[in-house]
Amino acid sequence: MAHDPSPAELARLDRAHIWHPFTQMQEYAASDPVIVARGEGLKLIDVQGRAYYDGVGSMWLNVHGHRVPEIDAAIVAQLGRIAHSTLLGQANVPSILVAAELVKLVPAGLTRVFYSDSGSEAVEIGLKLAYQYWRLVGELRRKRFIAMTGAYHGDTLGAVSAGGIDLFHGAFRDLLFPTLRAPYPHAYRFAGSPEQCRDQCLETLATLLREHGHEVCGLLLEPLIAGAAGMYVMPPGFLREAARLCHEHGVLLLADEVATGLGRTGRWYACDHEGVQPDILMTAKGLTGGYLPLAATLATERIYHAFLGTFAELKTFFHGHSYTGNQLACAAALANLELMHQRDTVGHVARAGAHVARELASWRALPHVGDVRGVGLMWGIELVANQAAGTAYPWEAKMGYQVSHRCRELGMLVRPLGNVLVFMPPLASPLADLEAMLAIYRQAIVDVTGA
Ligand code: PLP
Repeated sequence: MAHDPSPAELARLDRAHIWHPFTQMQEYAASDPVIVARGEGLKLIDVQGRAYYDGVGSMWLNVHGHRVPEIDAAIVAQLGRIAHSTLLGQANVPSILVAAELVKLVPAGLTRVFYSDSGSEAVEIGLKLAYQYWRLVGELRRKRFIAMTGAYHGDTLGAVSAGGIDLFHGAFRDLLFPTLRAPYPHAYRFAGSPEQCRDQCLETLATLLREHGHEVCGLLLEPLIAGAAGMYVMPPGFLREAARLCHEHGVLLLADEVATGLGRTGRWYACDHEGVQPDILMTAKGLTGGYLPLAATLATERIYHAFLGTFAELKTFFHGHSYTGNQLACAAALANLELMHQRDTVGHVARAGAHVARELASWRALPHVGDVRGVGLMWGIELVANQAAGTAYPWEAKMGYQVSHRCRELGMLVRPLGNVLVFMPPLASPLADLEAMLAIYRQAIVDVTGA
C-alpha cells in the first residue's frame, strides 16, 4: 500500500471484506470494533492508540505477553535460514527439536509427535489415528467414540461430531458421525455435592462402557476443565477414574489438552493433576507462546507401531497439511518453551492461580455472580439473573457481551461464553497486573448488573 490507511479507512475495508469467526456480522458491521495495531507486553494497542489488557490472552493462547524479545529474535534467526519446507517424507531442524522437547513435557508414554496447525486439526488427527489403529490391529468392531456433554473440540467436522454444544454444532447435525455421549460432571446446578455429581457421572460412563466398550475406539475429553462449555471443572477424582474405566474396557483415552495444556492449569498438562497417562494427547494453543499456528497430536509407541509396515501394506497414516511442522512456528515454540523453563512459568501459573482463586471467591458476594470456577489461569465467572435459584439470564440479554463491552471501555479486552465471563490472561502475567485486570472485571460486572 502506498499510504498508511487511516483508522476510518481500515474500519471501512474491514466491514467491506472480512467475515469474522464466531461473529454475527450484521451486528459487527453496525459496531465500533477494536482494530489492533500492535502489542506491548500484556497489552494490545489499537489504531487509535488506545491500550487494553489482553484479558483472554488472544483467545486463550498467549504465554509471555506480546513482542517478547527472545521469541522475536528466534523467529528472525529462523527467517535467516528458511521459513518453511514440507514435512512430508523429509525433516527439518526446529520441528525435530520441538518434538524431542514435547515428549519430555507430556505425561509419560507419549513418544510420537504428529504436527498440524490448529487445535481442531490436532483433534481430527487424534480421532483418525485412534480409528485407524483399531483397523490395523484387527478390532474392526471398534468404530465409535465416546465424548462428553458440552464438549468442544474445534470446528472441523470430526471435531464437531465429537462436540456437544448444540448452539455451535446443531446446524451441522446431519453432516456428523454419531457419537456416544457421557455426562460431564458439572457440579453447579447439580442437585447434590460435587462428589455425588462425580460419582453419578462415573456410573453412567461405566454403564456406557459396559454396554458399548467393545465397539468403542476411544473416549475423547477435555481433562480437568471443559473450556468452551463454560469453564466446567471436573470434581477431583473424576479424570483418574474415567481413565481407569477406559483401561478396563480396552478403550483408548484421548486427552484434548488444546486449551488446558502447556501450563494453563498450573501443571504442564491437566492430566498431570491426576497422574493420568492418555493414549493420545492434543496440544496447541500456547505452544508458540501465542505467536504462530502450531499444534501437535502425541501418541504412544503401541499406536505408532501398529502403523509400521512396507509401502505396499498401506498401513501409512494418510494425513498431512501443507504447513505441517512449519519452521518459523517451531522456532517460536522452541524459544517459548525455553523461556517457560527459565522463568518457571508453570510454577508461576500455579501460584497466580491460587491468588486469583482467593480474589474470585469474594465475588460470590455480588448478587449476580452465580458461580466462579477454574484452576491456574483458566477461569469462568457465571452471571445469573437470580443467584439463589441459579436462574440464567436469557440469551438475548447478552449479559456476557455487555460486561465485556464495559471491560473494553475500562481498558481490557475479553470475550465471554454466553453468560460466562472468561478470564484467561497471558500465563506470565504478574500478580499486580492480574489484580488490575480483575478490578476492571469486577467494576464492569457491578456497572452492568447494577449491583
Ligand atoms: N479443543 C479445545 C479443548 C479447545 O478449547 C479448542 C479451541 O478453543 C479447540 C480444540 C480448537 O482449537 P483451534 O481453535 O486452534 O482449532
